[in-house]
Amino acid sequence: QPFPPRRAIHDLPDELISQIAAGEVVERPASAVRELVDNALDAGARQVTVRLLAGGVRLITVEDDGAGIARGELQAALRRHATSKIASLHDLESVLTMGFRGEALAAIASVSELSLLSRTPEQDSGWLLDARSGELRPAARARGTTVEVRELFFSTPARRKFLKTDATELAHCVQAVRRHALVRPDVGFAVWHEGKLVEQWRPTLAGGLATDDVHAWRDALARRLADVLGEDFIANAVAVQRHVGGVRVTGWAGVPDAARSRADQQYSYVNGRFVRDRVLAHAARSAYEDVLHGQRQPVYALYLEIDPQRVDVNVHPTKIEVRFRDGREVHQAVRHALEDALAAPRAQALAEAPG
Ligand code: ADP
Ligand code: MG
Repeated sequence: QPFPPRRAIHDLPDELISQIAAGEVVERPASAVRELVDNALDAGARQVTVRLLAGGVRLITVEDDGAGIARGELQAALRRHATSKIASLHDLESVLTMGFRGEALAAIASVSELSLLSRTPEQDSGWLLDARSGELRPAARARGTTVEVRELFFSTPARRKFLKTDATELAHCVQAVRRHALVRPDVGFAVWHEGKLVEQWRPTLAGGLATDDVHAWRDALARRLADVLGEDFIANAVAVQRHVGGVRVTGWAGVPDAARSRADQQYSYVNGRFVRDRVLAHAARSAYEDVLHGQRQPVYALYLEIDPQRVDVNVHPTKIEVRFRDGREVHQAVRHALEDALAAPRAQALAEAPG
């Protein structure tokens, strides 16, 4: 058996490195939407508007009214591993922003035609940077940022072939925005497709960022849940509120009768970040074990707050997975929080029952 031909080791060209890395970050239009909305929220936006053509494949624009990117930093924003969000390993261990890897814009730009239009409060005009040509010119813009992504995967046909119909890609994009909307009632969101308004969620928290007013935040969140998931979701859910050890679990859990045939209304967040996590899913499942039959799927929106030092968000480029330092503690906290919440209405009903 002959050896394969020997070839010299060489460095890959920068563009190819970016395209390879992009494969992990940008799987489909919805991944780009998620990253761009993350950035808007990190910039303090109060309103985020997403406009799409052809399910996001032909065009994604994300507009925000956040802090903006200074003219002199537009180029840097597009560089791989360039970020304003962390500076040291220590920062990484307690990161509270959505982004921190400095990868998203570079990754998206390497597989699309991307432009950045931004204006900071100090500037008297906006500046537009075209990623491909590097051209930088003044352009009209109120304070904030617009990122425009055209022809996603035009240069990587293998990836483009995996995309589904426009309707399916649109549904994933809307879902990406929905996940943000369910944790940020203080921010307004809108999604447009082919010039038509698809979804609009207005801020449900009046006035400024009253994050320290727990009750106002809770009410706002309940209203946002009703707006996004339907009045029925909240009407048929019990409040979850429990603080065990270092884990605070709040949110709403659907009563057993509200369970669905699909697991399509299960939202979990860790420190404000939407996550998909086995520990959390399993804990929820086991809390419903005795009250749900067969394959019925519970509905819930759960918000965990944990000391950021005890959860690693740097597990995967998409940051949708996390690793808990103490998974058992988190599992128990979630399970007990849900069990308590689910037991409460029954206890109340029994107490109120005549005779
Ligand atoms: P990360 O979010 O991990 O820092 P990105 O590639 O997503 O990496 O963004 C790079 C940098 O560009 C950010 O750190 C931020 O400084 C800036 N930036 C990106 N999007 C926005 C935005 N919408 N508003 C303000 N600044 C932005
Ligand atoms: Mg980012």
